[in-house]
Amino acid sequence: MSGKADVQPSGPRLWRNSKMIHVLSNGACNEYRGRAAKEAIISRLTDWPEARRVATEICDFYGEYLQHHEDTALSSSHYEIELQHEPIALQYARIELQLGTLRTAEALLHELLHLNTRMRGYPIGEKFWIPSELDRYAHHISAIYPIIGNLLEHELIIDVFLGLGFDKANFLGCLSPAPDYQHLASKFKVSLGFREEIGFSWWCLEYFRHWVSTRHWVGDEADIYADSALYWGSKVYPGLQDAAKQIRQLIESGAIQDSKQYPFHVNTLLRFMKVPKFTEWASIKTGGYGKPRAIRLTQKVDDWMSHHCSRLMDNRAEEEKH
Ligand SMILES: [Zn+2]
Repeated sequence: MSGKADVQPSGPRLWRNSKMIHVLSNGACNEYRGRAAKEAIISRLTDWPEARRVATEICDFYGEYLQHHEDTALSSSHYEIELQHEPIALQYARIELQLGTLRTAEALLHELLHLNTRMRGYPIGEKFWIPSELDRYAHHISAIYPIIGNLLEHELIIDVFLGLGFDKANFLGCLSPAPDYQHLASKFKVSLGFREEIGFSWWCLEYFRHWVSTRHWVGDEADIYADSALYWGSKVYPGLQDAAKQIRQLIESGAIQDSKQYPFHVNTLLRFMKVPKFTEWASIKTGGYGKPRAIRLTQKVDDWMSHHCSRLMDNRAEEEKH
């Protein structure tokens, strides 16, 4: 964590597991809820019987909480899971599907598989604390979580996507391009201290988003962007090389695939990136047909982490014996 132990956090922060919400314009668009959303979704997957089966399960899980929006004016497709926090409750699960592309079915399934991660037991990071010393960067830091969450979920869903017969080339619509890293690095002056646009966490995120996309994208661009972010970011923050290596090892280990250990490993990734960790997590359980329920996991996560840490310490003690 970037905060020091003696720094009091400024207060709880909530992460709404959301991406950019598009403001409706004049383009052709449709809005559906519940059963109508299910019908609209299934009709988009006519040529993909296996995907229809999976989509049906997902739609039935979310039931009346499901919202589906289709729009030619969207610049990309998104999903959103909206939680009420006190008391915790699911408000809705929503897909916003960009129409008019050559990968409509693929984009729809991609977003559905994001929703499916909750059914598979992967929880949602719900709260985090930003130390008061970083308060002025709260907006910047808060924006990091949904980006990381989305990219990590791609690790969880790409095999399902491919297993349903879809082409890897259609898993992502496009890559977010790299800014001019050389220019940004040249602007850095140590005497200016932490700068929002080029802080360590920012460089880590830039590297991570490109590097992890090399695993989900067909083409060289992600590799080139990742190399550039690492090269120029390391000139600003030499520690970026080590952080990048730790990030790669964590992801390549496949550890985050274990839903029970997911909070622990996500927080480990955040620690590598010097981003404040999640302090509370929520899970979405089925309460019967179309009745999903959000449940807070704090106690379970704490239990798991203390169990895991004590096991690690036991292992270390064993290793020291040999
Ligand atoms: Zn995605």
